[in-house]
Amino acid sequence: MNLHEYQAKEIFARYGIPISPGHVAATPDEARAFAERLGFPVVIKAQVHSGGRGKAGGVKLASHPDETAEKARAILALTIQGLPVRQVLVTRAVDIASETYAGILLDRATKRPLVMLSAAGGVDIEETAHTAPEKILKYTVAPRTGLLAYQARDLMRRVQPDPGLATKMATVLEKLYRVWWESDASLCEINPLVVAKDGEVLALDAKMSLDDNALYRHPELVAYRDDRDESPGAVLAREKGLSYVKLDGDIGCIVNGAGLAMATLDLVQHFGGKPANFLDIGGSSNPEKMVTALQVITGDAHVRSILINIFGGITRCDDVARGLLTALDRMRIDAPIVIRLTGTNEKEARAILEARGFSATTSMEEAVQEAVARAQGVTV
Ligand code: GDP
Ligand code: MN
Repeated sequence: MNLHEYQAKEIFARYGIPISPGHVAATPDEARAFAERLGFPVVIKAQVHSGGRGKAGGVKLASHPDETAEKARAILALTIQGLPVRQVLVTRAVDIASETYAGILLDRATKRPLVMLSAAGGVDIEETAHTAPEKILKYTVAPRTGLLAYQARDLMRRVQPDPGLATKMATVLEKLYRVWWESDASLCEINPLVVAKDGEVLALDAKMSLDDNALYRHPELVAYRDDRDESPGAVLAREKGLSYVKLDGDIGCIVNGAGLAMATLDLVQHFGGKPANFLDIGGSSNPEKMVTALQVITGDAHVRSILINIFGGITRCDDVARGLLTALDRMRIDAPIVIRLTGTNEKEARAILEARGFSATTSMEEAVQEAVARAQGVTV
């Protein structure tokens, strides 16, 4: 789950990370009113779940009320990386002396927290990571001790020559580490962490991603969810506890078990098809799950065929078959459905399906090939 900048800043501020004061506005008039309260100049910033807002015209300075309203109007009309801007953050502008990058993420290779720092902070950090990776300092933290004060100072000294400033920035880094750790975040980033002309150190931008699997430990953070950019299918899947990831193909896949689901996607690709999604209905045998799965899949307008691949273990094939028929009673499904099932109660399942004119294969290859052909409009 991704947070907006203003939400991440709220959390950062609770940990004592200095930020420039600001307010979130949904209209140009609101933005103007907030700017008058804050004092000029102000910065107006698009609040979308995407980076690169500066380069997309989503971050603008304004020095008087009308200019604020005008620029807020322009930003609110933008779509950044496919996401419509619904809100802007209005903050007091800072006079920047230098911009540093500071980020903490979970490094899957070492299974440890990774601190990343760079003196080349600002809007070009992605490019720097690509073209001059040596300019990014990386440090693996021992999770048992966490990031210690002297380590944070040593690291900051390597990107900030001024010892006084490095110490101030190290304090921010320590706090950032605590935010990251205590929120079960997968990413916490300040880019830029600035030194202002007056010597103040501030987090000018804030980015945070939370680990969905740990959200149950943070009921206070769940309220930050903004799912207006998610498809209704993705929201439904999450609410009903199905793991669903939308992909860009046209073959809807309903599978039990994450491993089988991944193997299914591989096989679809192997036979020249493109999966529309990853969807794991899980190991339990609740027919309702099949109903939800079909609602999710049919909500995607790109789906041209539906592949159901069930390996019956704890999941009983007859329950899946019943779930499918229940779904068909409740909704209209135009896309052809191809079924592969094998394992527990497969005979019963086949009988239930045949009574309604469906056949089911036991061969995964056969089913995948048929689903690929049907998506291409070929009737087998
Ligand atoms: P991003 O492009 O989505 O990462 O958005 P940022 O919040 O990082 O803003 C992009 C750039 O706008 C920053 O790197 C700064 O150079 C500039 N910027 C943002 N806030 C201020 C400000 O208060 N004063 C000045 N002078 N520049 C700012
Ligand atoms: Mn930024």
